Amino acid sequence: MTLKDLNIEEQVTLLMQGAEYGDVTLKQAMTDELRQRLIEAKDEGRPLRVYCGFDPRTSDLHLGHTVVMRKLRQFQDLGHEVTFLVGNYTSLVGDPSDKDKLRPQLSPEEVELNARTYAEQAYKVMEREKTHIRYNAEWLSRLSFAELIKLASNFTVQQFIARENFRLRWDHGDPIHVHEFFYAIMQGYDAYALRCDVQVGGTDQLFNIVTAARKLMTFLGAKPNIAIIMDILPGTDGEVKMSKSLGNHIALMSTPEDMYGKVMSVPDKAMGLFFRLVTRWTPPEIAKLEQDLAEGRIHPRDAKMKLAREIVSIYHSESAAAHAEGEFVRIFQQHDLPDEFPVYLLQNGQTVLEVLLAGGLVSSKSEGRRLLEQHGVRLDGQTISDGNRTFPHPGVLQVGKRKYLRVR
Ligand code: ATP
Ligand code: MG
Repeated sequence: MTLKDLNIEEQVTLLMQGAEYGDVTLKQAMTDELRQRLIEAKDEGRPLRVYCGFDPRTSDLHLGHTVVMRKLRQFQDLGHEVTFLVGNYTSLVGDPSDKDKLRPQLSPEEVELNARTYAEQAYKVMEREKTHIRYNAEWLSRLSFAELIKLASNFTVQQFIARENFRLRWDHGDPIHVHEFFYAIMQGYDAYALRCDVQVGGTDQLFNIVTAARKLMTFLGAKPNIAIIMDILPGTDGEVKMSKSLGNHIALMSTPEDMYGKVMSVPDKAMGLFFRLVTRWTPPEIAKLEQDLAEGRIHPRDAKMKLAREIVSIYHSESAAAHAEGEFVRIFQQHDLPDEFPVYLLQNGQTVLEVLLAGGLVSSKSEGRRLLEQHGVRLDGQTISDGNRTFPHPGVLQVGKRKYLRVR
């Protein structure tokens, strides 16, 4: 039996697996609508049309994106039709949803450059032949001001101000720019332009998908899309959403060694979310591993190594994963790697030398320079030699054989 043979109820159960709305009523409503839409589509002899949007604000897709891409892949495996929407127009504004300040506006040239390999990276998870690629400049760049006024009249300023990200800025007296309100309207219009049955997104997309898209689709006379909202994968800091704009991400295109090292730098407490959201393990396998961890039958570090191996195997190969593990053991473990490292909070624009000094890994800048020259400084296992460059990214910083710092 293949996934395509699942009946409607089995499909609903599978597709709702891992969906997270933070609201049981909404979850129930979406489950019912999904069931209904599957019945209608079957009667019409067509697959469901499903999409998710990705903004090329940088050139990397990362592990966090695979949470939604794996859901899209599941739709494909069930025989449904999937569109990967490249938000080349929404990227000009930048989604304010999970951000606490204004985002820089990008130029169309920057966005174009970033978008170049975006779809190619997506095929690491999704099926190439079964994926439609669209770009939202196709319809957003053609909207007239008169149309924008009509779309905007569906929302009140209060609805926006009630969102946590804007409310905090309002409370602190920080500026909220009018164009930031456009983002949800643009995304809502994407949903109308694509007229899909289902839109997938992370919980940061609740407002854009549930409030904006469903409202605008209804207003424009289309059937509102059903929201499949997925839980959020934290970044390598284990605290906040993995996000390309925060630098706490694990890029899909990174090398096996880098990927392995980055997974190993995730704090123990965040491992469970990684098990659930980005491995191929089944719920019973995960439950068993977590029980073994809780009862001390497996050391957290060994569980994390199993996780790192699994993730590198998915995006590279089992042999690449084994090799990366060998390297990791050679570099770190032979030197009694401590379970948890002291933590240093990176400040904007700090150089490598400044971090070494402020983090207490060296007692003077000249000592730092000497160690850098002697190749004695590593970040996630990779040697760094230029002390004057801006600190590249959060990770585990190692000086000599024994000094470690988790830079966040
Ligand atoms: P940015 O910080 O620029 O907004 P992003 O990393 O959030 O970037 P997007 O292109 O905005 O990436 O997100 C595309 C889709 O991937 C959205 O549906 C979003 O919810 C989902 N997504 C992004 N990061 C994560 C994550 N860490 N966990 C789960 N889903 C994620
Ligand atoms: Mg985002």
